[in-house]
Amino acid sequence: MNPVGCHALVWAGGWSPDECRRAVFSTRDAGFDLIEIPLLDPRSVDVAMTSRALTDAGIGARCSLGLSAATDISSTDDAAVAAGEALLMDAVSATRDLGSPYLCGVLYSALGKYLEMPTERGRANVVAVLGRVARKAAQAGVSLGLEIVNRYETNVINTCEQALLLLDEIGEPNVRIHLDTYHMNIEERDFRTPVLLAGDRLGYVHIGESNRGYLGEGTVDFDTFFNALGEIGYAGTITFESFSSAVVAPELSRILGIWRNTWTDGADLAAKARAFIAAGMAAAGMGQA
Ligand code: MN
Repeated sequence: MNPVGCHALVWAGGWSPDECRRAVFSTRDAGFDLIEIPLLDPRSVDVAMTSRALTDAGIGARCSLGLSAATDISSTDDAAVAAGEALLMDAVSATRDLGSPYLCGVLYSALGKYLEMPTERGRANVVAVLGRVARKAAQAGVSLGLEIVNRYETNVINTCEQALLLLDEIGEPNVRIHLDTYHMNIEERDFRTPVLLAGDRLGYVHIGESNRGYLGEGTVDFDTFFNALGEIGYAGTITFESFSSAVVAPELSRILGIWRNTWTDGADLAAKARAFIAAGMAAAGMGQA
C-alpha cells in the first residue's frame, strides 16, 4: 500500500558518502520505507555509492528537484530551456538508476520568486519540454510528479486546478499531480477539494507543516487531508518533508528561505513524524506498506 518516505534534508545538507549513509540509515531507523533524494544537480550524485547504501539499509528511494534560473524551462531564453531539458533528461537517468519510480518537484520552472506573470511562450516551452522528458521517463519506468508550490516559489502552477490544466496540455499519462500540504496551506481553499480534484491523477504527496517543522504544531488541517486521501483510495507515496537551519543545503536552504531553527534533533523529528503519519492514515482507513 502507501510507501512512506522521509526527505534527506531531515538528516544531511550534502551527499558525500558519509552524509548519504547517515541519511539513508537514519531514515530506515526512524521506520520509513524510503528516502527522498534531492537531485538539484543530478550529475553530482554518486549513483553507485547511493545504491549500495540503499541496498545495505534495505530501503527505497524517490528523487526530486527544482530548476534554477539557468535551467528554467518556463523561460523565453532558449539557452536556459535547452539546459533545463538536458538537466531533466539526466535526472530521469539518475532516478531510474537509483531504482526510483518517481521524479518529482518543481520540474517545470525555476524554484524561486518571480516578479512577473508567466508568458505564453514560456508555458509552451514547459509543455514541449515536459512532453519529451515524460516520453523518455516512460521508457525508463519513471513517472513525473509536478509539485504544486506557492506563489513565492513559482509563477506557473500554485493550485491543483492550474496543475490539472497543465497536465492536460502535456498529455502524457506518466505526468502526475504532486500535492504538498505546506503549499496547499498557502494557496488552496481547503485540504479536501484539491485531493478530490486530482483523484486518480494524484501521484505523489509531501507532508509538511505550515512552518515546515514538527507535524501537528502548525495550522495544516491534516485530519481533513488524510481523510481525503482515504476517500480517493490514494495508494501512492507519502513523504515527510521538513527544513530547519539545523541542516543546511547550500542552495536549497537559501531558495526556500530556511532562516531559523524549527527543530535541532532530526531523529526525534522523524520518529514523531512517522508516528503522526501512521496515525493519520489509520484514522482515515488507509492501508500501509
Ligand atoms: Mn514539497
